[in-house]
Amino acid sequence: MRIRRIELRGFKSFVDKTVFQLGPGVSGVVGPNGCGKSNVIDAIRWTLGEQSPSLLRGKAMEDVIFSGSDGRKPASVAEVHIAFDNEDGAFGGQYQRFSEIEVGRRLYRDGKSGYLINRVECRRKDIVALFLDTGVGARAYSIIEQGRVGFIVNAKPEERRVLIDEVAGINRFKSQRVEAERRMERTKNNLVRVSDMITEMGRQRRSLQIQ
Ligand code: ATP
Repeated sequence: MRIRRIELRGFKSFVDKTVFQLGPGVSGVVGPNGCGKSNVIDAIRWTLGEQSPSLLRGKAMEDVIFSGSDGRKPASVAEVHIAFDNEDGAFGGQYQRFSEIEVGRRLYRDGKSGYLINRVECRRKDIVALFLDTGVGARAYSIIEQGRVGFIVNAKPEERRVLIDEVAGINRFKSQRVEAERRMERTKNNLVRVSDMITEMGRQRRSLQIQ
C-alpha cells in the first residue's frame, strides 16, 4: 500500500493548496528546520482520524487550521486528502474495484468537521474500519516519527501489546468483540425490561380474572 498523493489546504503552515506527488522512488521529505516536514506527518495522522490535539502538537483541534502570518489572514478551513494506490487490491470489500482510494478530512473554524472516502462524506468509524489491521492509522505502526522508537523501547508491556496486536492483525476481531459485547449488554437490558412487563401484565391479568 503506497501513498500516491497528499493534498493540503489551510492545514498548519500549508495555507495554499499544496500537492505532494509521492511517485515510486520518493522515500523522504527533507528541508531546513521549521519548514513544515512534521506538519506533513501531522496531516496524515489527522486525516486518518487522530482526535488528540496534543498528538498533533497543538492545544485544541482548531490549531491545525492555518493561524495566519504577517501577510496572511487565518484560514477558515483545513482540508487534507490522501490518495492511496489500490492497484494490488489491498483495500478489499466494496473498495476493491477502485485503483485509488482517497481519504479526506475537513475542519472549519466554527467546529464543523467531516471525513470523506473518495470525496463522499463518511464517518470516522468508516476510515478506521478501512485501515484496520493494515498497519496504517492515526496511531498505527506505519508512522514511526521522531522519538517513537524510544517510546516503543521504553513502553510498558500493555502499550507495546497494542502495537503487536496491530501487526498480528487481530484488532479487527477485538473491535468486533467489543461491538458484540455491547449488543449483548443491550439485549440483556431489553430482557430485564420484558420480564418486568411480564410481571406487571401478570398482575393486571390476575386482577382482571378476579373482576
Ligand atoms: P524540525 O525540523 O525543526 O522538526 P519541521 O520541518 O518538522 O521542523 P514543523 O514542525 O512541521 O517543521 O513546522 C513548524 C512550522 O509550522 C512553524 O513555523 C510553525 O509556525 C508552523 N505552524 C504550525 N502550526 C501552524 C498553524 N496552525 N498556522 C500557521 N503555521 C503553523
